[in-house]
Amino acid sequence: MNLSPHFTLEEMLHSDTAEKKKIENRINAAEVDNLVRLCTKVLEPLREHFGVPIKINSGFRCRDLNDAVKGADNSYHTKGRAVDIPMHPGWLAYIRDHLPHTELINEGTWIHVAL
Ligand SMILES: [Zn+2]
Repeated sequence: MNLSPHFTLEEMLHSDTAEKKKIENRINAAEVDNLVRLCTKVLEPLREHFGVPIKINSGFRCRDLNDAVKGADNSYHTKGRAVDIPMHPGWLAYIRDHLPHTELINEGTWIHVAL
């Protein structure tokens, strides 16, 4: 299922940890809506500006998956409001200066952004 022209629900739900631990990573409609908003307002404009595909390192996490990866208790990942994407030159500054976000964290080799 497409969330926006270049991002799918499948890539937002995918997790190696979930597969390994047989966690279903079940999402509800409101959380899907949040992902659509994140894709439309942040990821699509970022992709458009830099003209390259964006790999999703981590998208939605159900409660069990978030616990399994030791995510923060109230992580926006559990609400469909956050993604982790690889760090590339200029991306962090572009999001900071031009795109809406509630959280923006430089994690070194990746960027955590939430809306
Ligand atoms: Zn994150």
